[in-house]
Amino acid sequence: MAMFTIFSNWRRQRQLARFDPERRARWQQNLDALPILDGLGRDQQSRLMALGWCFLHDKRFTPVMDAALTDDHCIDIALMAALPVLNLGLEAYGVFHELLIYPEEFVSDRHYVDDQGIEHQGMETLSGEAWEQGPVLLSLSELGYSGHWNGYNLVIHELAHKLDMANGGIADGLPALPAPLRPGWLEAFPKAFASQRRLVSRAQSAPAGSPEAALAWNTLWVDPYGAENEAEFFAVCIEAFFTDPIALHLAYPELYHLLSRFLGQNPMVRAPQWQPLPHLCPR
Ligand SMILES: [Zn+2]
Repeated sequence: MAMFTIFSNWRRQRQLARFDPERRARWQQNLDALPILDGLGRDQQSRLMALGWCFLHDKRFTPVMDAALTDDHCIDIALMAALPVLNLGLEAYGVFHELLIYPEEFVSDRHYVDDQGIEHQGMETLSGEAWEQGPVLLSLSELGYSGHWNGYNLVIHELAHKLDMANGGIADGLPALPAPLRPGWLEAFPKAFASQRRLVSRAQSAPAGSPEAALAWNTLWVDPYGAENEAEFFAVCIEAFFTDPIALHLAYPELYHLLSRFLGQNPMVRAPQWQPLPHLCPR
């Protein structure tokens, strides 16, 4: 999508007018220091910084519990938040106004299903959370692990929930896809989710410490947390798309290609290349 359609309105133009060369140079340093942004072309980098700048000015970043939130944290969060919507624009996240920044992991009262498949209502320790029609919560301690090609990214994960919620207000693994992609998605996504659940339960039921267990866990290319429900599967797939795309492509190639068309990006070409060891390859 062309630049003018993403930044067309007057408010955006005014925001961007304040993004002067000195500030751009500062943002460029942060961008260069985040490995998952490696390999973006000049145009993509400048669009990413502009989107990040607008994100930072659209949202309130509220430190809670004495979180020591710095300018660098804010810039890094904004750059990583801008990455999934680089070609869609910030509006793809729907309406939300605030990010609550915690110093460490925090406890939240919620309904969840544990590793054994048992349902709980109660307090759970979380590194991040995205509320429907509400803020995004992030912990600074976990932010430190984000930004690498390691399959983990707290910011992208939570913003993926917003991308999901922007379609009808609920997180259900069905984002606002263009019509031509919907039939393929409605077939591929449930299939991949069912496969993820099967693989996770196979890994969990293998005797702990056995070679079968090791093989089952080592060939889980996508975060096992994704087996929890469709919304989490969507979020870990987006997270993997940008931080371990080769693994996502290996696990769920159709889903990878649908995401690639939806988001207008192909991070596999930028990612450090690796091959699964032959004896680990499930196929
Ligand atoms: Zn999540």
